[in-house]
Amino acid sequence: MQPFDYYKPKDFNEAFKLLTLPDKAMYPLAGATDLIPHTRDGAWKPNGVVDIKGLPGLRDLKVEGLEPCCGCAPGECLYVGAAMRMNEIARSELVRSHWDVLAQAAAAMGNEQVRNRATLGGNLGTASPAADSAPALLVLEASILVKGPQGDRSIPIDKFFVGPKRNALKKGEIIVGVLIPRPPQGSAAVYEKLSRRKAGDLAIVGVAVLAYPHESNYRWRVALGAVAPTPIRAPQAEAILNESYDAVHIDEAAAAAYGCAMPISDIRASAEYRQMMVVNITRRAVRAVIGKLHT
Ligand SMILES: Cc1cc2nc3c(=O)[nH]c(=O)nc-3n(C[C@H](O)[C@H](O)[C@H](O)COP(=O)(O)OP(=O)(O)OC[C@H]3O[C@@H](n4cnc5c(N)ncnc54)[C@H](O)[C@@H]3O)c2cc1C
Repeated sequence: MQPFDYYKPKDFNEAFKLLTLPDKAMYPLAGATDLIPHTRDGAWKPNGVVDIKGLPGLRDLKVEGLEPCCGCAPGECLYVGAAMRMNEIARSELVRSHWDVLAQAAAAMGNEQVRNRATLGGNLGTASPAADSAPALLVLEASILVKGPQGDRSIPIDKFFVGPKRNALKKGEIIVGVLIPRPPQGSAAVYEKLSRRKAGDLAIVGVAVLAYPHESNYRWRVALGAVAPTPIRAPQAEAILNESYDAVHIDEAAAAAYGCAMPISDIRASAEYRQMMVVNITRRAVRAVIGKLHT
């Protein structure tokens, strides 16, 4: 593995200076569960890494004290600092209270050792199409909060992924946290993941589904991971479920999700298998949500 320098900045300004050093490939460093393997296999070639875990706000997990945002009343949005680890998110009573689908996705990631190091910011930073947090954040309509040399900005999650392993961050920018509106009262959500092994492997297909009461019916959100160049919403499937969620509509929605998918073949699965499994996993996730809505 090529050697690289390690820096631990004391504040954001020092971090921005390090991350924008001219002619250097500088990477933010969080849990290193992607950074080390990708550097070892030569895909990434950092000259230096900038450990961002100690920067203010990156380890916060709270609903209190937030400015009104995303249309939520104050205190109604969950803030998850970018350096929160997957096991912390999976086990948090606060996350599980109203944002459980994110806890489910965090619990579905890797294995115990990986989840003890891997962070939410790192999962978004790598921007794998198979990132488990992504479908959950898509149905929760989260925003990614970013600080950079040019200032602060908030990126809606559906604008954050711009290609396979490419995100909307500019040079020097750091994900500080994720802001997630509280889903409407009476909502239910599920993350279903299909992978080769029960633990320690990326998704072949990941599906998040969320439904909430609307007038005399329900509104649905469906998001897919690992079956397109980026994690995606499946609006055609959502429109069908918004009409009805009887057995016929569930089958039609699953078929519509199939139509949204544009998978590739890789070592985990062929494109054909992935696309077929979108149908099964979407159907399974929708049924699980219906089960939760009616308990
Ligand atoms: C054995 C194993 C199993 C795995 N299984 C899964 C799985 O099932 N599902 C899954 O989704 N992933 C899986 N992964 C991938 C990895 O664990 C996750 O993507 C993890 O969330 C990365 O987080 P990290 O903190 O380790 O990131 P790092 O490796 O530290 O960083 C990853 C990338 O994000 C950037 N970055 C980190 N933090 C920030 C920030 N705050 N702002 C801007 N950029 C940042 C880094 O510069 C780097 O480019 C697995 C990895 C391993 C080794």
